[in-house]
Amino acid sequence: MRGGPVIAVDGPAAAGKGTLARKLAEALDLPYLDTGLLYRAVARLALDAGQDPAHPAERFAQALMPADMQRKDLRTPDVAQAASKVAAQPAVRAALVETQRRFAAERGAVLDGRDIGTAIFPDADVKLFITASPATRTLRRFLQSGGDVNTPDAQTLLREMEEALRARDEADASRDSAPMRVADDAHMIETDTLDAQAVLAEALRFTRE
Ligand code: C5P
Repeated sequence: MRGGPVIAVDGPAAAGKGTLARKLAEALDLPYLDTGLLYRAVARLALDAGQDPAHPAERFAQALMPADMQRKDLRTPDVAQAASKVAAQPAVRAALVETQRRFAAERGAVLDGRDIGTAIFPDADVKLFITASPATRTLRRFLQSGGDVNTPDAQTLLREMEEALRARDEADASRDSAPMRVADDAHMIETDTLDAQAVLAEALRFTRE
């Protein structure tokens, strides 16, 4: 028996999952876990050890400590790409399953990721799948990271970022182990034309159904 509801928030990179999941957790007074940080931390440890992230990385997943997830250097594009590579390894995913399930055991939780509603909590109380077009997601990530659309190199940077984002989505959706996909019973929220408040309102509507 779980001590509270589990809310799964899945979707591609930079769709607004983190913003929504954090607000949802606050509104419902539930713990929040950004599961992408688990894979980013494993990737960071592999890179620090001088290892190609495509090589077996489960020893880093098995030895993961809470402090590894609090490092400030997990949000870089290099770590994101490396995270996608370690995340494709079944042994890495297997090593992180219990951590995620245990997190929700006591009080329930809001978790955001790629496979929460399909693999980690197929019995989640509410499943949300958050999407937006690649162009919207790229622009959001660009602005979040302090980018300025009026600089001369903005278009080039945006094009490169969109390419990297699409490649990561493609890898996450086509891997054999727990690929990103929409759970049959998930509610889709498209965030292209919605601000964070509107996304939260939509999510709360599904949560209270
Ligand atoms: O969400 P975020 O961009 O931080 O995730 C980084 C990478 O970690 C993703 O591209 C994906 O490969 C992997 N990931 C995953 N399953 C999750 C969360 C993240 O495979 N539940």
